[in-house]
Amino acid sequence: MAQKCIFCGNKPQQKNKEHVIPQWLSKYLGRYNSVCTVPGATDYEITFAKLTFPACKACNDADSKLEGEAKAVVEKLMNSKSVTGQEISTLMDWFDKLRVGLWLGQLTLQKKLDLMDPNFYINDRVGAKDRMLIIERVKDMGNGLGLVGNDTNIFLYSPCVFQVWFNDILITNASTDGLVSGKLGFPRLSKLTSTGYRGATATLTKGINRTVHPVVMNIDGTNKTVLYQPIFKQYTPNPFYDVPYVQQHCYDINKGLGGIFVQKNGNAIQYMKPDDKITLLPKAQPKNNVLDSMKRVYELQNHVITKLNDTESHTSAVQQMIKASLLQNQVIIKRIEKAK
Ligand SMILES: [Zn+2]
Repeated sequence: MAQKCIFCGNKPQQKNKEHVIPQWLSKYLGRYNSVCTVPGATDYEITFAKLTFPACKACNDADSKLEGEAKAVVEKLMNSKSVTGQEISTLMDWFDKLRVGLWLGQLTLQKKLDLMDPNFYINDRVGAKDRMLIIERVKDMGNGLGLVGNDTNIFLYSPCVFQVWFNDILITNASTDGLVSGKLGFPRLSKLTSTGYRGATATLTKGINRTVHPVVMNIDGTNKTVLYQPIFKQYTPNPFYDVPYVQQHCYDINKGLGGIFVQKNGNAIQYMKPDDKITLLPKAQPKNNVLDSMKRVYELQNHVITKLNDTESHTSAVQQMIKASLLQNQVIIKRIEKAK
């Protein structure tokens, strides 16, 4: 099997290794030498220390800035210190990296990298599509570090939604085209129509220049902090973006980088200027039922596929695969509901 750099997808130059789950995180949580189960036909048991994949030295070096900045934000999050809108945007970049890196790592371990033919790598997906984070505390979680939702067929097909938990903190991350833009008042995307394997296209309509609740499914900010960021890199320039509303709610309009919107404790959705500060995880935030919170990852995966994609535009073989994958998630959701 040809080795590919997980950042750029090329043959690694001056080969290096990249920890998909960063060393600073597993060490910080005292889990560097703990076993991490990687899903697959037969589950792979591997320590976080050994969960490394090929990367170019240059790609790895270029990434160290993001890692350094993300580490500082994660530490603030865990210590209930305030963070700026700009820092949240960095945290979102880091989750893009983690999610896509994990997916490529799993394909590598399952020896499906050639079979699944990923046509994007980490560098293609950091800051590339609409994204959101849900940050909450959950009950009945032991200390440690783990992943949720990365073991489904939907994640394997389209790595848009997963969860990471560290200690009693659960973070849900989702990113795909059209996830939040329209409801945040930005130009709206139609459902994505397939243009071939993993390719898709969509049409744009004018934005409504105001936010609409709920932004995604029925998720609100009760006992959690929900963060949204519209990203339209691949749809700009387009006159629909040349409106005051979009200009006033962007961190970098030329890069198609919208600003951070936050919904917290049942309050209305608020826009954060780059320097505005909030505490993402107040010390006093009540803990949620872990099953309710984990169920959401499977619901969100199905939401992304059924609500944001025109699944009928795929070939019948892909449609069959999608149908079976959606069903797999529905079974998991039912099982969780029963366990409650
Ligand atoms: Zn590279």
